[in-house]
Amino acid sequence: MQHDNVDIAILGGGLAGGLIALALAKLRPELRVAVIEAGAQAGGNHVWSFFASDVAPEHAWLVEPLIEHRWDDYEVRFPKFSRVLPTPYRSFSSKALDAALRARCAAGTLRFSREVIAAARTRVTLADQSVIAAGAVIDARGTRGFARLTGGWQNFVGQHLRLAAPHGLVRPVVMDASVAQIDGYRFVYLLPFGPREVFVEDTYYAESPMFDRDVLAGRIAAYAAAQGWDITAVLGEERGALPVIGGGSFDRCWPADDPGPARAGTRAVLVHPLTSYSLPDAVRFAVHVAGLSDLSGDALAHESRRYAAAVWQRGGFYRLLGRMMFGAATPARRYRTLEHFYTKPAALIERFYAGRSHWSDPARILTGRPPVSLRRAINAVRGRGRPLTPLDSGGLSG
Ligand SMILES: Cc1cc2nc3c(=O)[nH]c(=O)nc-3n(C[C@H](O)[C@H](O)[C@H](O)COP(=O)(O)OP(=O)(O)OC[C@H]3O[C@@H](n4cnc5c(N)ncnc54)[C@H](O)[C@@H]3O)c2cc1C
Repeated sequence: MQHDNVDIAILGGGLAGGLIALALAKLRPELRVAVIEAGAQAGGNHVWSFFASDVAPEHAWLVEPLIEHRWDDYEVRFPKFSRVLPTPYRSFSSKALDAALRARCAAGTLRFSREVIAAARTRVTLADQSVIAAGAVIDARGTRGFARLTGGWQNFVGQHLRLAAPHGLVRPVVMDASVAQIDGYRFVYLLPFGPREVFVEDTYYAESPMFDRDVLAGRIAAYAAAQGWDITAVLGEERGALPVIGGGSFDRCWPADDPGPARAGTRAVLVHPLTSYSLPDAVRFAVHVAGLSDLSGDALAHESRRYAAAVWQRGGFYRLLGRMMFGAATPARRYRTLEHFYTKPAALIERFYAGRSHWSDPARILTGRPPVSLRRAINAVRGRGRPLTPLDSGGLSG
C-alpha cells in the first residue's frame, strides 16, 4: 500500500545522508525530501573531525554552522620527532548534525525510528510495511565493510574525559605514535575540548576488526595517568572498526549493472582509502547532488556510481600506501609509513587528507629513506606481500 510520495528519499540520517538533506534544504527548497533514519535522532554517536583544508572554500557554508570546536593548528608525535602543522582542525558531533537538520529541514522531512527493509530506485519499504514512493532514492545507510575489497582495519575506542585539573594541551594531537606499538600501527589521538576536557582515542591499524573494548579503555586510562591527568568522569565514548582499503575491484564491489538505488557516503565507497574518513567526500558529494538537474531515480543511480568510480580511480595511490602498510611492513614497523609521510611539506599533507593529491605528490611522498624495504614494497605493490584481509564485513560503523 502506498503511504507517501516524495521527490527524494534519503535512507539513513547519518553523516552523508544528513549533509545531502542540508544541501538540498538550502539549494533546492522546492523539493520534497524524506530522511528515513532507524535511530531516534540523526548521526548516531559520533565525533566527526576534519582539517579545514578538507573542505573547499565554496563548500564551507555546509559544515561551518555545525562546527563545535576549532583549532588553528595540530601536532603529530612519532618516535623520531614531533611536529606542529599550521592546518586548522575542526570537529562536530552527531548532536550538532541532528540539531541542524531539525532546524533547517521542512516539516515532515525527518522520519526517525523508521527502519528501511527494502530499497529500489524509486521505492522504499519500511519495517512497518509502509511504502514510500520517491522520484529518486539515495541509499546512505553506511556500511560495516566492502565486498570484494581487501586491506586491513583501523580499530579504536575514544573517550571524552573530564579531568581534575587542566590538561595543558593547546592543540589537537592527531597522532601520538610515540606510544608502544602493539597490534600493528598504534597511535593515540587527542582533542582538547576545554581546559579540563579532552577526547582521547586509542587507535590501531590491525589485520582484524576484532578488538577488546575493555583493553583499549584500560590503555586510555593508562595513557591519561602517564600524562599526569586525573580522570574525574568519562563523559562519552565511541568506537569503530573501519576498513582501510589496499586493493580489490570497485567494479565487483559495486557492479555497473547494479539495479539498486543511488548510493552516498561509505555505502558508495566514498571514503579515503587509508584513513577511512568520509567527511571530505560526503561534503563534496552533497553539494554535487544538490546541483544536479536530473534527479530521477535512474539518473541519480547512474550518476552516483559514475562519481564514486571516478573517486576510486583517483585513490590508487592511497590504496598503494595501504598495501605498503599492510602488505610490506611488519606490524611493529607499520608506523614508519606515517612517520615518513609526516616529514613532507604541510601543503602536500593537506592535499593527501582531502583526497586531492597532485600528480607529483606520490613521488614526493615516496622519496627519501623509504619506510619499508624496497624489495618488500615492490612485492606488496605486485600483490606478492603479506596477504591483505578481505574487508567484506565485521567492521563497526558506529
Ligand atoms: C566512531 C567513529 C568515528 C569516526 N570519526 C570520523 C571523523 O572524525 N572524521 C571522518 O571523516 N570520518 C570519521 N569516521 C568514519 C566515517 O566518516 C563515519 O563512519 C561516517 O559517519 C560515515 O558516514 P555515512 O553517512 O556513510 O554512515 P553513517 O554516518 O553511519 O550513517 C548511516 C545511517 O544510516 C542509518 N541506518 C542504517 N541502516 C538503516 C536502515 N535499515 N534504515 C534506516 N536507517 C538506517 C544509521 O542509523 C545511520 O544513522 C568515524 C567512524 C566512526 C565509527
